[in-house]
Amino acid sequence: MFSGAEYVARMHELGLRTFRVNPLRKTPKWLWLAHGVGLVMLDGSWGRPMTEAEWLACDDTEPMLVFLNHRMTDRKSRLFACACCRQIWNYVSNSALRNAVEVSERFADQEATQSQLSAAARKARRVASDLREAAMANTPPSNWATGSYPAAEAAALVALKGIGLVRTAARLARAALLINEVETIDHADLLRDIFGNPFRPVSFNPEWRSDTVLALAHQVYEARDFSAMPILADALQDAGCDDEAILSHCRDANQPHARGCWVVDLVLGKE
Ligand SMILES: [Zn+2]
Repeated sequence: MFSGAEYVARMHELGLRTFRVNPLRKTPKWLWLAHGVGLVMLDGSWGRPMTEAEWLACDDTEPMLVFLNHRMTDRKSRLFACACCRQIWNYVSNSALRNAVEVSERFADQEATQSQLSAAARKARRVASDLREAAMANTPPSNWATGSYPAAEAAALVALKGIGLVRTAARLARAALLINEVETIDHADLLRDIFGNPFRPVSFNPEWRSDTVLALAHQVYEARDFSAMPILADALQDAGCDDEAILSHCRDANQPHARGCWVVDLVLGKE
């Protein structure tokens, strides 16, 4: 258990700034715009080149997200940020924070409205703000869990309408793990699960969408339970699918999957 001051010091050690001014509150829109323009100009990041070997081996989501940039749909970006939050679910312990992630996932699939998203974001921001102030004041609340603050900031971020902050959300989610020295699924693997291999786009034959394939994919997607992926591979094969990338992705026991998995999305016709 960290005290607030130790916690802030640890965040700094990890190169993560705790925000003295909450960036999610009362920031004029022009400042966000200037910040965004500045970022693009500074790192020239409108799709920095990357080779396929670099993409496959990369363990840092930052250059991968920069590379993907305009290739990302809003939905995929949002689901990746949500998947990062799901990975730190035990630190996203507050119901308002969890709700922010859940509503954001529904919003990605047009199952939640803009006003539901805004309401969820407002509540999550309040919790994140309280945790930040407690950490800064060195008076962590009694239910304080190390990792809570970056997790709360990440959850509050993913409920924002714009998904331009996906890189920050991923970094905060990573911070919640690093600060506890928890080694777990690499976010880069999650990113590869959601976006696939941008160097080898796979075309999906609609004939492979048999009733069994569709039922399995829907079940996996809704329940976020990917244990049936090898069974999905068998069903796809029965329907005539012979694409090695698809089949091996489903059968690879070491492959983490998240909502937005490129194979499940292909089956369900989602982008
Ligand atoms: Zn997958």
